[in-house]
Amino acid sequence: MNLPTVRLYNTLTRRKEELRPLEDGVVRIYSCGPTVYRYAHVGNLRTFMFPDLLRRSLEYLGYHTEQVMNVTDVGHLTDDTFERGEDKMLVTARLENKSTEEIAAAYTDAFLDDIRKINIRPAARYPRATEYIPRMIELIGQLVAQGNAYVADGNVYFDISTFPSYGKLSRNTVDKLMAGHREAPDPRKRHPADFTLWKGAGEHRAQVWDSPWGPGFPGWHIECSAMSMSIFGDRFDIHTGGADNVFPHHESEIAQSESIAGHPVVSIWMHGGMLMLAGSRMAKSAGNFFRITELEDQGFDPLAFRYLALQAKYRTQLNFSTDGLAGADRALRQLRERVAEWSSEQGAVSEEWDGRFRASLADDLDLPAAMALVAELSRSNVAPADKAATLLAWDRVLGLDLERGGRPHELPVGAAELLAQRERARAAKDFATADALRDRLKAMGVSVADPRVSD
Ligand code: AMP
Ligand code: ZN
Repeated sequence: MNLPTVRLYNTLTRRKEELRPLEDGVVRIYSCGPTVYRYAHVGNLRTFMFPDLLRRSLEYLGYHTEQVMNVTDVGHLTDDTFERGEDKMLVTARLENKSTEEIAAAYTDAFLDDIRKINIRPAARYPRATEYIPRMIELIGQLVAQGNAYVADGNVYFDISTFPSYGKLSRNTVDKLMAGHREAPDPRKRHPADFTLWKGAGEHRAQVWDSPWGPGFPGWHIECSAMSMSIFGDRFDIHTGGADNVFPHHESEIAQSESIAGHPVVSIWMHGGMLMLAGSRMAKSAGNFFRITELEDQGFDPLAFRYLALQAKYRTQLNFSTDGLAGADRALRQLRERVAEWSSEQGAVSEEWDGRFRASLADDLDLPAAMALVAELSRSNVAPADKAATLLAWDRVLGLDLERGGRPHELPVGAAELLAQRERARAAKDFATADALRDRLKAMGVSVADPRVSD
């Protein structure tokens, strides 16, 4: 098949490499997905948008893609780096007084709603960790039998001394690992950097499974080895995640999967950059985060977040601010209006411009360069109808709903809800609230004219 060459940055080798799919023309992508014990914030969504852009770009260039995204519903401890604390699912289940299954189902639904709002296309499959426990037990058993893992006191640990290249992905040396380790290491570990494959149940009553090592639950990293290799086999093309997954999660996945397979499993490791807020990583634990629905309630088009994210290279950090988002929101609405004006006649995709667009995508998903082309084409003297046709073709990758400006009477997203709230406030004669809502609507470009009651 004659497909264009695509170069992607491989975290493992620290350089851009040519994508050579194992099966001609088909790219298999495993993406680390959400842990479903809380709502996703827009930082999480940025990390999930990046494999969506990868898929859309590859498909635009003529490849087929098969994406699998796991849903972590067990095994994620409150302190993953040093493997301390409780399983996050259990903590939330207790706080919300629900079963872990109910928690997982509710937050998985919320996740799917959130990604839909920003046009992230669903993965082909969403395997859940709890569906793969027997497979995890099997892999752990194999690692123990091979001498890569040892049992201590109902726990099973991976012995990193049996995998000398441990650290090759993150460049974390054992010394560096030790330096960050202030508290006394788990005395059951032979080496402080050995990581947990199976954890004895201890006091846990929920989310506990029987195993050859007694009742317990799996470590977080073994989930992704089990799910990726169960679905794709022991070789696949691309593995994605956030930059914070490089260590310990993906480093440990490599140790497990390669010890099982006896050879590299993943061709290209790709990681998305963090979304920052006021200088720190957006994080639920630190309390500095936004959900996409909150931004929508403030009157922003959720796709303005997508527009904002497209302007930064996927692997760099991106600073989030509501001012920046407001700028993106305005630019997006303007672009849609112009596309609507330009599409009054039938146009054709400009091959010259499209060639440049494709070249940006093939160069390690250079979406900022692609967005610069959007601006340049908009200003160019290309025939308006051809501009529109070209931009609408590009929107298959950008996912900005650029055709939406053709419906000029449509309210901005979130406005209908505010109008309804204002109606309720007026009905309740709460005019202060009604006035405040009128101001918010005005800021969104919606003016409200109330019927006069009497003169
Ligand atoms: P979690 O649901 O906590 O497992 O997180 C889902 C994904 O979000 C993980 O793969 C993280 O890499 C990613 N993530 C967490 N915080 C941020 C952030 N501030 N910016 C970008 N991605 C993030
Ligand atoms: Zn994972």
